[in-house]
Amino acid sequence: MTARRRRIGLLGGTFDPIHVGHVALARSARVAFGFDEVRFLPTGVSWQKSGQATPAHHRLEMVRLAIAGQPGFVIDDREVRRAGNSYTVDTLSELRTELGAEPMLVLLLGSDQLRNLATWHRYRELLDFAHIAVTRREQVSLARLPDPVETLVAAHGRDALPDAPSGAIAFFGMPYVPVSATRLREQLLAGERPAELLPRGILDYIERERLYQPDRANG
Ligand code: ATP
Repeated sequence: MTARRRRIGLLGGTFDPIHVGHVALARSARVAFGFDEVRFLPTGVSWQKSGQATPAHHRLEMVRLAIAGQPGFVIDDREVRRAGNSYTVDTLSELRTELGAEPMLVLLLGSDQLRNLATWHRYRELLDFAHIAVTRREQVSLARLPDPVETLVAAHGRDALPDAPSGAIAFFGMPYVPVSATRLREQLLAGERPAELLPRGILDYIERERLYQPDRANG
């Protein structure tokens, strides 16, 4: 009898801060694809995001707190440790080398990131190392994708992920969780306390470390 192929979901993000949308995405994907593990990969330098991100040690700690006690959820800090820009293709290539050819790796994306995909460094090569699974984010349609993304989806899109290590694009559903880190930072900067949009313990951490303060020094 051959062993079942290990399935690993990969959720990259700035996580500035981690919020309930990220956790819901990871949970829904875990159920949809039967992941043995979901790895959260906070970015080091988010080269596509303007403005300064909160220092990485805080973003890492918030992810750690948010996933503590959730079976199968782990944090991977390689992008923070790596110098220079965080390119997902480098991360996937490294993971493939470390984990070997067999496991199924699945890069998880919200629809905003899929629309943006053709701007990513060496984006076509992502599928050499992993599958891509996409969920619809509120207000970010999956219709009329930019041409290069449409071409990629036409070539690699499948109704379900095949039992293979990499190479396909599939879609999965989740309830809309109308929250974004940008909006959350605005709320926190305005002095609001949006506890229901943050995993347990995160608002306490933010307040204790004085993150997202109107006059913030953030360090
Ligand atoms: P920002 O508002 O600063 O762009 P964000 O809320 O999109 O931040 P990221 O850390 O950039 O957070 O997101 C990481 C991944 O999680 C991306 O693939 C993004 O599409 C997805 N994601 C973020 N929020 C949600 C949400 N509410 N529902 C579904 N997916 C989400």
